[in-house]
Amino acid sequence: MVEVLTKYLKDVLDNDPRKPARIAAYRGGYLPNERRETAGQLRAGSLDCVVATNALELGVDIGALDVCVLNGFPGTIAGTWQRWGRAGRRNRPALGILVASSEPLDQYVVRNPQFFMQRSPERACIDPDQLLILMDHVRCAAFELPFQEQERFGSQPLAEMLAYLEDQGVLHHEGTQWHWIADSYPANSVSLRSVAEGNFVVVDTTEGQQKVIAEVDYSSAALTLYEGAIYLIQASPWQVERLDWTGRKAFVTKTKADYYTDAIDYSKLKILECFEEERQPSAICARGEVHLVRRVAGYKKIRYYSHENVGYGNVNLPDHEMHTTALWWQAEPERLEAAFTSREQALDGFLGAAYALHHVAALVSLSERQDLGRAVGDAGGTWFATVDGKGRGSAKSLTGEEVAISDRRFAPTLFLYDNYPGGIGLTAPLYDLRKELITRTRDLVSACSCKLGCPACVGPILASDEVRGYSPKQASLTVLQLLGSTD
Ligand SMILES: [Zn+2]
Repeated sequence: MVEVLTKYLKDVLDNDPRKPARIAAYRGGYLPNERRETAGQLRAGSLDCVVATNALELGVDIGALDVCVLNGFPGTIAGTWQRWGRAGRRNRPALGILVASSEPLDQYVVRNPQFFMQRSPERACIDPDQLLILMDHVRCAAFELPFQEQERFGSQPLAEMLAYLEDQGVLHHEGTQWHWIADSYPANSVSLRSVAEGNFVVVDTTEGQQKVIAEVDYSSAALTLYEGAIYLIQASPWQVERLDWTGRKAFVTKTKADYYTDAIDYSKLKILECFEEERQPSAICARGEVHLVRRVAGYKKIRYYSHENVGYGNVNLPDHEMHTTALWWQAEPERLEAAFTSREQALDGFLGAAYALHHVAALVSLSERQDLGRAVGDAGGTWFATVDGKGRGSAKSLTGEEVAISDRRFAPTLFLYDNYPGGIGLTAPLYDLRKELITRTRDLVSACSCKLGCPACVGPILASDEVRGYSPKQASLTVLQLLGSTD
């Protein structure tokens, strides 16, 4: 998104190669020296505009900006003020602009500005005892001072964790103390934004050279560095020729493609353990541990400006697997069959309900939308639902093949999951708010002024013109009615 926007701005404002560039991009994957250079140019006033992700939000000295334009609602009030606050330093007046997208939260905020102006910003909310986060804390603490036998970190006993770090060659156990022996400085490898490990480097091999031009974090690698992908830096395109997954390297060459690429990925969940559940006659809502498999199955080539689809490619990468926590809803099978004329319509209803519920859950849990994932599928993980090219829901296996849903037990499950390995504590508060979630989602969908469904309520694709004489919006409301009913 940053790169495409940068290209469009550069096409208009940087089209004279004799003049210095006025537009630059800034995001996480850039090398530190490139980022420092852009921040320096901003401070010096030699750039007119920087297109950035939230990488520019924290801890970067960029001097005084005059205007901050947000491309869509960042998802939280705190995030919005944080970004607007980057403009207008040193007591100068500044302008903050929010360009609302067609998504439900954006539309809600622009229709209800008092929500934004009157509410106090959210508190940051993570679970400090989440295993991977705690491990990073313990690493950094051990670097500062040796741990003593029986010592705790907060409320957590540490024996097992210290033994693990000893196995990893990070700590050394001697007498009653655990000493730091690794030669690295642990805080360098702790990301404030992600809990996954292992970055990928992007190596430019144009004309036989071997030059590292970017660094991509593990969780984005599968979505941006598959073979055939167009990788953009400052809106200039490189094509990925080869991806060495185990070596964490992507080899790219310069290209002149007039399209960019967008990965097609599928997520499938399987319930491993249920922590708590509430059974109503028409539905079950539960929370527990799930196994998530995410597969990048292919990619689309999208032409600039027209955004038309000009081709597809296949991707062959290892599945991304993780355990995390989720909450889920299932409708009672007989009531579900009675409420719909076909299972396909029920599936459309589940997909539309999931889209709306996902947006409302992000708002209610005070998290950003990408912190939560959503999926509709079979609870046992045999199929998942996706929206096909014609705008209808269909059930698929992970290999992308259609799964017949007519001749088997039909128990579609709507999942909202914590999008971090191990979970960072987002689903427990959502489970406690499960009734409010369904009620607010129903209010959102039924108050939407569209007829059949739209991006501001049940999603952009289900409401395509090809779906005539039947309303995906109504199907979604029927599903929400079942899931929220107490009788
Ligand atoms: Zn709508």
